[in-house]
Amino acid sequence: MEKKEISRAVIKRLPRYYRYLGDLKAQGVERISSGDLSSLMKVTASQIRQDLNNFGGFGQQGYGYNVNYLFNEIGKILGLDCKNNMIVVGVGNMGSALIKYSSFRSYGCDIIGAFDTNINLIGKTINGIVVQDYSEVGHFIKEHNVDIAVLTVPKEAAGHIAEELVKYGIKGFWNFAYTDLRLGPGIVVENVHLSDSLLRLSYSMKSKGVVND
Ligand code: ATP
Repeated sequence: MEKKEISRAVIKRLPRYYRYLGDLKAQGVERISSGDLSSLMKVTASQIRQDLNNFGGFGQQGYGYNVNYLFNEIGKILGLDCKNNMIVVGVGNMGSALIKYSSFRSYGCDIIGAFDTNINLIGKTINGIVVQDYSEVGHFIKEHNVDIAVLTVPKEAAGHIAEELVKYGIKGFWNFAYTDLRLGPGIVVENVHLSDSLLRLSYSMKSKGVVND
């Protein structure tokens, strides 16, 4: 199939399609019209058609979309047919919460190791994962097939750690440290800043006048 560049905006919307289609699938819905999907997702039908046309248009005139097929195809586009092994670096509140949250497994993403420098945390077991000394991380990466590093360290430490992990061969970073990591070509970074999201909520509440002064 001809490879076509898909815009970042469309890619950003795909997880939402995936979630809604997953819910429909779980409810036993086999097909859905773009109109029904549109009112469910509060996105225009034409936006849905445009988005899904990027992948060869899985809809059929008079039939709508086959929920299972579309769910699987979007899953493939999102890389969910690949398995990604992840390590967590920094096992503070955020790091340990992510280790405890096992749902990433259903996306093919498995946390297989956790690292910290704090001697009070090293040796602790969280959700079956033993926290190891960060000095062991290079050795661990050599021995295991690690695809993604989840960074839940303070922002001051994140850049240095990321550069070190790149040298060990890590190519994907899920960065929760409060700084935007830029690691050069061939390295993929998804910066997740929960506080940015909270600030957007705070702004919206203020601008809609639903906040107490
Ligand atoms: P959180 O921010 O997740 O709530 P916290 O407030 O408990 O965590 P932070 O100071 O943000 O702690 O640090 C997160 C974790 O990162 C801590 O467990 C800390 O020991 C660890 N950490 C700090 N520096 C490094 C480093 N250079 N390498 C590995 N782990 C580190």
